[in-house]
Amino acid sequence: MARLPAHVFHAIEAIEVIVSDHPTPGAVRSGVREDAAGLFVEPDQRTLDPTDDDEPAPPRGWIVVFLDNIRPLDGPGVQAIFMHEAAHALGLDEKHLEAVGF
Ligand SMILES: [Zn+2]
Repeated sequence: MARLPAHVFHAIEAIEVIVSDHPTPGAVRSGVREDAAGLFVEPDQRTLDPTDDDEPAPPRGWIVVFLDNIRPLDGPGVQAIFMHEAAHALGLDEKHLEAVGF
């Protein structure tokens, strides 16, 4: 994260990162590919209470990294998956990412 430009870091700093071994059976049943290496989960807007100022700001989403599905499993491999999912968090879809070779 330290290598990210400041404006990109601020855009994703409220996103929680979860490191897991692999997608759970429940996640697979709900449509996550069994071989997914990462995932960006958008927050469920329905759970937010816009009238409660005292409520701490909820995470703006979750980036999940599945270590068993990262090949090769090394620093650059994990970083590539994280950056791909962070780009989704910033609003880019697969088509955009493919266009820039990401
Ligand atoms: Zn993607």
